[in-house]
Amino acid sequence: MRVTGDQALVKKLNKSIVLDTIRRRGPLSRTDVSERTGLNKATVSNLTLELLEQNLVEETGLGQSSGGRKPLMLIFNGAAGCVVGVELGVTLVKAALTDLNGEILFERSASLGGLDPDTAFDVICEVMEPLLQDAPETPHGTVGIGIGVPGMVDESGLILYAPNLGWKGVDLKSRMEDRFGVPVVIDNEANAGAAGEREYGAGRHVRHLVYVSAGMGIGSGMIIDGQLYKGAWGYAGETGHMSIESDGRLCSCGSRGCWELYASERAYAYAPLPGQHGQPREDDGVANSSKTLDSVEALNRLPSFTTAELIEHARQGDVKTVAMYAEVGRRLGIGITNLVNGFNPEKIVIGGPLTEAKPWIEPAMLAAIAERALPYHRRELAIAFSELGSRSAVLGAAHLAVSQFLGRVRVSL
Ligand SMILES: [Zn+2]
Repeated sequence: MRVTGDQALVKKLNKSIVLDTIRRRGPLSRTDVSERTGLNKATVSNLTLELLEQNLVEETGLGQSSGGRKPLMLIFNGAAGCVVGVELGVTLVKAALTDLNGEILFERSASLGGLDPDTAFDVICEVMEPLLQDAPETPHGTVGIGIGVPGMVDESGLILYAPNLGWKGVDLKSRMEDRFGVPVVIDNEANAGAAGEREYGAGRHVRHLVYVSAGMGIGSGMIIDGQLYKGAWGYAGETGHMSIESDGRLCSCGSRGCWELYASERAYAYAPLPGQHGQPREDDGVANSSKTLDSVEALNRLPSFTTAELIEHARQGDVKTVAMYAEVGRRLGIGITNLVNGFNPEKIVIGGPLTEAKPWIEPAMLAAIAERALPYHRRELAIAFSELGSRSAVLGAAHLAVSQFLGRVRVSL
């Protein structure tokens, strides 16, 4: 029989639906799969046979009988291969070798402060090589590499602009593919974090999720109806540059009052902090253009404290630090309110380095959302902090590589 293009595509779609159903919901019998997917039993049996032959699905034990013989149950075989997930941070590169279920087998990291793309490429390779060498023997081997980066990535995987790394137009994907000989997928770190939390963390089984990554800036990954929303050209999620003060602080993006200047680690540069006397360096967040705030110095203003140092001060009850975190929390809540009103998500998950300060930011953040979000939007809204902590983006990047390998097309159930 001649198979037409359409038939082949339909089969591919059906196979991906069967595999995805078993992966997410297994153990399932063939009958369960048929019921959940709406595909007939013969189709499910044929596709399952192929998946068994490819070692992507395994039969495991007997399930409950609904009258006749007890059915064989099917599960996804996470051990069929490995991937590497990489998070390229501003100061650190982290990498983890995982199986296809996101179980971390080995992980490594190295510092990456202020490196140009060529030197950084060598560091990333040094971090990854031992992981690949130690990868266990599996039917499919190492099937891909996923990388989360702190910047804008276009549809082809080109890093267009990573302001905190100082990179523009870096084709890391092709270089990694040439070096390692496996497919590489690159995405923004907030998108990677959203994928990580949705697969393995606080966003499991959530169809409408906004993940807010707060560190030295803010980015969001939006999952709408089960799919990562990337916008027309892949640039969606730059919520850190959503203005929350129309005449506020001048931002390096050219706008004013950007959310990340008030609600990320960037806010530390504007607050009176331990050991500093007198007034805040800027009063109520309203820039006065006749003063030096519009200078280049103001744009590049970097915090003089790290989150780890400030948390220590907060623990010791330092009044300025505690007040600063309450204000960061309130501002975080104001931006989240805008996202809640605009997107009506089921759940907001907050991740990234700033979440280390959760005890000091959470009350003011929740109060701001409770006070400001529209009542219908707020009613069934869940708000949580990341479950994967500092691993959201690494695991999410690994998952992007798994997804690519499993040939998931844009279908969801
Ligand atoms: Zn901005």
